[in-house]
Amino acid sequence: MEVAAPEAADGEVLVRVRACGVCRTDLHVIEGELPPRKSPVIPGHQVVGVVERQGKNTRRFATGARVGIAWLHHTDGTCEYCRSGAENLCDNPRFTGYSVDGGYAEYIVAPEDFVYAISAGFPDEQAAPLLCAGIIGFRSLRLSGIKAGGRLGFYGFGAAAHVAIQVARHWSVEVFTSTRDARHQKLALELGAVWAGGTFDEPPKKLDAAIVFAPAGEIVPAALKALKKGGVLVLGGIHMSPIPSFSYDLLYHERVIRSVANNTRQDGEDFLRVAAEIPIRTRVQVFPLAEANRALNALKNDAIPGAAVLRISE
Ligand SMILES: [Zn+2]
Ligand SMILES: [Zn+2]
Repeated sequence: MEVAAPEAADGEVLVRVRACGVCRTDLHVIEGELPPRKSPVIPGHQVVGVVERQGKNTRRFATGARVGIAWLHHTDGTCEYCRSGAENLCDNPRFTGYSVDGGYAEYIVAPEDFVYAISAGFPDEQAAPLLCAGIIGFRSLRLSGIKAGGRLGFYGFGAAAHVAIQVARHWSVEVFTSTRDARHQKLALELGAVWAGGTFDEPPKKLDAAIVFAPAGEIVPAALKALKKGGVLVLGGIHMSPIPSFSYDLLYHERVIRSVANNTRQDGEDFLRVAAEIPIRTRVQVFPLAEANRALNALKNDAIPGAAVLRISE
């Protein structure tokens, strides 16, 4: 539908959107699996565009600068989490495309302090999936504690995993991928996985850590079973179906389960630097904005190898 272009308030920039990545979280918002924060809302939180206008009291970006806008729209900066370096856990956060309008649109506004510079090495469409799939995958890798020479499992191989595997390979980590979709298994092997099997197939070696990217709770016991003693299981999604009960044996021997919630701006800056160094190459399927629903439906049916991206303007 037609809506008025937003205006940049104090400290904000107005960005003309060129491309916006399609994330599984957009599906969770649209289908009501996450409680509504704003309705109606424009989804989309992997935005690449150019600064068109600056609000008062801005200084970071010139007109025409190419920038990225991610999930974390704003934090209060004053709660106990913000003050201890964990702004991803802020008590009063705002999220792009969820509590404020996002990037499935021609224009978006965001506080400049939460906007990222985008390296010239990445075309718009290739850069878009870095802003959530990339950053969240990177935080998941960090929280897994995986080290060079370690063995890491991925459960599900969508947008986030196809970026995270490139970072893991760069760190000399062996990646084992469990996913139901044959196309996703094929992509994992192309990107350097040492093994790819079905979701519930046991990897051939015990893993130091694993990341569950798929939103399916029944994967958790299977993934725990694949871990070595002391192994870490990271749940990378914002939403997951209920986790079935399982025997304590699967968790015993100091195995750890933890979730990932949002990211700090430092995660974003660190990841975008590493992504440019490697450099990360994202596989994208591009849809025009008018076909956003088709892109979302394809994502829902595992039909996107890599990431879906909406092309908004040149
Ligand atoms: Zn806070
Ligand atoms: Zn996302």
